Amino acid sequence: MNQTIPLENQLSIDLPTSEQPLFFGPDQQNLVRVKRDDQIHPIISGNKWRKVKHHLLYAQEHKIKHIISFGGGFSNHIHALGFCCWQLNIRFTAIIRGNYQLNPSPMLLDIANWRAEIRYVNKVTYKNRDSSLKQQLHLEYPGALIIPEGGSSQLALKGVEQIIAELSHPYDLIVAPVASGATLAGIISGVEKQGLATRTRVMGIAALKGQDYLEKSVSDLLPEEANCVDWQINHDYHFGGYAKKNSELVKFCQTFSQTHNLAIEPVYSGKLFYALNTLLNQGKFANGSRILALHTGGLQGAR
Ligand SMILES: *Cc1c(COP(=O)(O)O)cnc(C)c1O
Repeated sequence: MNQTIPLENQLSIDLPTSEQPLFFGPDQQNLVRVKRDDQIHPIISGNKWRKVKHHLLYAQEHKIKHIISFGGGFSNHIHALGFCCWQLNIRFTAIIRGNYQLNPSPMLLDIANWRAEIRYVNKVTYKNRDSSLKQQLHLEYPGALIIPEGGSSQLALKGVEQIIAELSHPYDLIVAPVASGATLAGIISGVEKQGLATRTRVMGIAALKGQDYLEKSVSDLLPEEANCVDWQINHDYHFGGYAKKNSELVKFCQTFSQTHNLAIEPVYSGKLFYALNTLLNQGKFANGSRILALHTGGLQGAR
């Protein structure tokens, strides 16, 4: 890795992303801005870059030449990290839940082309990724950097906080999808660091079934200073769980993508915009609320 050129330049990451105005809700009367993190890079998925950046900087600083991480067969995180490691000449080992050997997903074919080493493990082994499996990997690959699933660690927050530092408009509310909760935690922490806690509240839209568990995941990552931020997670729009969908959601994604000329997919951004649209139609936000929706990217997973 070249130490003198910023990582963003080495990888052609395009920042800051824009805050695109869209008209939403009843009679398309509500102005909402969309932060287009889906446009960060043609391959590296938006919020996965934000979360992975400081892990890569850590590897660079400590001269670490091998990264290991975990994910499912369609993981946006593994895809983004696999591409970054290939570009930066870092060896990458992907620990994948389930055996896709005979039927690899487009994601797995991509990372194989990017020279990732892929290891398939069963669900039980995968469950121990932060304990016994991690210990075993440490023994097998001393000196490698092991990044948790989704890139979701304390180091991720710093990268996500940058989203808030980039904003060029004032907002009353910021809305984002939630899976591990690290992105939401980074937004909350960023709101505090930018001194916006009294003005801007944060709402997560759960992309999976996880009442209480998701709130705990977010608070566990948050620094104490962020306690002053008003945040919540809405659990009404997960459509039955992670990657679950119905025909109504699929239809919504198609119509939305066409109407606004803005591609969304049903796992994360579809649930976010479906929720936002419904809440606006129900008049759940004060008139004239200045709302920002974070488009986290993730379109590769929909292939
Ligand atoms: C992973 C992912 C999320 C969820 O982010 P968390 O930090 O895990 O909550 C949202 N959107 C997209 C596109 C993702 O790939």
